[in-house]
Amino acid sequence: MQKFNQLIFASHNKGKISEIRDILAPLGIKVLSADDVDLPDVDETGQTFEENAYLKAFAAAKQQNIACIADDSGLCVDAMGGKPGIYSARYAPNRDFNLGIEKLLKELADTKSNNRAAHFSCVIVLAHPDGSYKTFEGRVDGKIAAQKSGNSGFGYDPIFIPTGYTKSFAELMPEEKNKISHRGRALQKFVNYLTHEIEK
Ligand code: IMP
Repeated sequence: MQKFNQLIFASHNKGKISEIRDILAPLGIKVLSADDVDLPDVDETGQTFEENAYLKAFAAAKQQNIACIADDSGLCVDAMGGKPGIYSARYAPNRDFNLGIEKLLKELADTKSNNRAAHFSCVIVLAHPDGSYKTFEGRVDGKIAAQKSGNSGFGYDPIFIPTGYTKSFAELMPEEKNKISHRGRALQKFVNYLTHEIEK
């Protein structure tokens, strides 16, 4: 089993990179991102989170000749038939999340609070240069707020209120968000897998 004291995470997304670094640092795993190593640009042509995460992780693993991880994640809103889903980044005009949030709130303007259920999904893929891979999934349920609140996190965090909370993701401390978030949960499964493999 390859020892993972350093791992390449195939993403340029600063919010994701910082969350993954926070979660893996206590395990002594240093995370390099697509800003640290020159990775190929990948078109997200998959139809599922898993397919897109695999495309990104495998392209990096093949080029670097070492196992790499990537995630694909997004916000799925029940009243919008699960959208924006895999198109969450592209849903935001010019990939500007303030505009994306405005667009989403406008689309849900006539949707009552008891019909604003949503969830975030995340699939992390660990891909090897030979094409083999493992997936780790996480999900967090919640609802879309009537307006945005909070300044931390990234993306749609200011309008997502996780179930059991009255605050948005953007109002939680990063450690609190990481404990319950889709990415935190998927990473926890990944960490359990790594720990198990290292002990073998
Ligand atoms: P991709 O996985 O890089 O294609 O993009 C996923 C998109 O989903 C992000 O750019 C955000 O718009 C949204 N997203 C994923 N995870 C989160 C999160 O934890 N908070 C807020 N938005 C997120």
